[in-house]
Amino acid sequence: MFSADMKGSLFLVSAPSGAGKSSLVNALLEKVKGIELSISTTTRAPRPGELDGREYNFTTVEKFLEAKEKGEFLESALVHGNYYGTSKKWIEEKMKEGTDVLLEIDWQGAFQVRDIFPEAVTIFILPPSIKSLEERLHKRGQDSEDTITRRLLGAGAEMVHAKDFQFVIINEVFETALDEFRSVVIGSRLRFKKQYARRTDVFIQLGIPS
Ligand code: GDP
Ligand code: ADP
Ligand code: 5GP
Repeated sequence: MFSADMKGSLFLVSAPSGAGKSSLVNALLEKVKGIELSISTTTRAPRPGELDGREYNFTTVEKFLEAKEKGEFLESALVHGNYYGTSKKWIEEKMKEGTDVLLEIDWQGAFQVRDIFPEAVTIFILPPSIKSLEERLHKRGQDSEDTITRRLLGAGAEMVHAKDFQFVIINEVFETALDEFRSVVIGSRLRFKKQYARRTDVFIQLGIPS
């Protein structure tokens, strides 16, 4: 499904809940052109303010499992008791047209996608401390105490996987973390293969073989 001369890059971003992943991703998308966020499908209930089709495609467990059975997901995982999956079709279309794609998915999903697409760029976002993680989950104010406790308890188990990601961003000062995130995205686009695929004319004119 994916070929090596693909112009677009695939970015896999993981973090424990509350590390600031969505804030950083949203801010990045405003700053950097040519990159789009994949909308996942989930069986979790929408949070206040979340819209179906914007943050997630919200669905039932039954429909989710049906879609999974049909092979509609590039990857899927059970995270904090809810199912999450990445749509295959949308990503295929975007990558074909050369648009970079960003997936905000958990580490299990990131590893599944990396197995299929080894050139994917993997980024892990860490909070500066457990205390700040807890404060941020409360500050966001959209999850129940139960949910916050469950997510905090799961954070340690998620963070041990940071070592298997290529890049690690510590989200302490937001603007600094955003600069670092942007650098990773811009830098990754300059990898030889991606440059060659995007700017083949320049390489041919200079007599540089692929
Ligand atoms: P938040 O991370 O606290 O904002 O909570 P969410 O409910 O949005 O996400 C919970 C977890 O599910 C996070 O670790 C996400 O990265 C992960 N997640 C979201 N979408 C997907 C997906 O399509 N596939 C997989 N494998 N994980 C996902
Ligand atoms: P995630 O998507 O990783 O679960 P969010 O992006 O929803 O996390 O961020 C969780 C909360 O922390 C939000 O209220 C957000 O405004 C806040 N936040 C994000 N980055 C920082 C930061 N660097 N310093 C302080 N608060 C932050
Ligand atoms: P969200 O609703 O995703 O949590 O955050 C909304 C916006 O607030 C994001 O796009 C992000 O730019 C900004 N933001 C969130 N947290 C911080 C922070 O701690 N510092 C700064 N400078 N901006 C933030």
